[in-house]
Amino acid sequence: MSKRTVECPQGHEYTEENTYIHYQGAKRNKHCRKCMHARRNRTARRQRVREDLVKNFGEVEGLKLFEGIRKNVR
Ligand SMILES: [Zn+2]
Repeated sequence: MSKRTVECPQGHEYTEENTYIHYQGAKRNKHCRKCMHARRNRTARRQRVREDLVKNFGEVEGLKLFEGIRKNVR
């Protein structure tokens, strides 16, 4: 039996449960649920950090600080 295992760019297997199909017109896009989940968590975390900085340092200074650290927020 030769079953081809397809993986997302991060190496997650495209199983039935882990695959999210998104239809864009005639195009069929396959997404990895694990990656989508991780990305959503990361975005939410960055959003929180950003809000905290703005609250504590003000709009200008807070956003400047956020730009400096955003790459390190995981
Ligand atoms: Zn993935």
